[in-house]
Amino acid sequence: MPNGFLCPKCHGQRTISCPICGGTGKRSLAGIPIGACKECKGSGHERCDACGGSGEVEREIELNSTQTKG
Ligand SMILES: [Zn+2]
Ligand SMILES: [Zn+2]
Repeated sequence: MPNGFLCPKCHGQRTISCPICGGTGKRSLAGIPIGACKECKGSGHERCDACGGSGEVEREIELNSTQTKG
């Protein structure tokens, strides 16, 4: 039984869709493709920064930090 929690950001996939290209791996400007995305090097995915690429987190983390409490 794993000790960690399943990463809520990548759901254990260890990678997330690149926010720059939206997971396509390509960059486009006004509908015109301008080459591979530099952020993810054209893969469309990048390592999850929430779990560091492990797919699990040591403790439960909250992603919606903008939500105010109290
Ligand atoms: Zn990308
Ligand atoms: Zn993750």
